[in-house]
Amino acid sequence: MASPIAHACLGVISLATITPLKCWTRKQSVFWWIMLFAILGCLPDIDYIFGLALTGNMKTFHFKETHSLLFASILALILSTIWQRHGHQKVWFMGLSAFIAIASHVLSDWFTGPSFGLHPSWGINAFWPLTSSPIQMPVTIFPGIKFKNFSGIFDFVNLKTVMVEFVIFIPISAWLVWWRLRQPGSLLHMNESKQTTYTKSDQ
Ligand SMILES: [Zn+2]
Repeated sequence: MASPIAHACLGVISLATITPLKCWTRKQSVFWWIMLFAILGCLPDIDYIFGLALTGNMKTFHFKETHSLLFASILALILSTIWQRHGHQKVWFMGLSAFIAIASHVLSDWFTGPSFGLHPSWGINAFWPLTSSPIQMPVTIFPGIKFKNFSGIFDFVNLKTVMVEFVIFIPISAWLVWWRLRQPGSLLHMNESKQTTYTKSDQ
């Protein structure tokens, strides 16, 4: 896997670029939408918890069912149904955003391997249940987090991967959120318009 930093940021990038205006008009709801999409971006790695709880080995179910496009579709459908029951508008649009946030995890893990370069990635079960064996990509874009046990996660080589992802993905996602908030009708745009109106009325 890429680290949770890259996955969470890709979820937030999906939110900033795809979701409808209603997610961006109130300060509190913007915060919760960002949290939700960061979680959706990391969600397929829930297989670590299942593996640890059911077999004592974090990797037992890793890169399998939860790293498939079917899993992303089912989750998006469930969320769409919940949003519809809560009276949300443009539910299909929201569902598509959720699907892309989860699918961004599948796609980035698909391009994850031992190190960056022109060699095959580790491979995931992206098309489960149509195929049961991992499908590899011919290139690796994301160096994976390597560990044999839980404490191995914190090895220096993994911390270096996390730092690189932090430097690349945090500024991109923060800028996109800021850009989205300044689009017509969004929170910062409304605040700026109000300030302009006040300033003009003061003159
Ligand atoms: Zn993953």
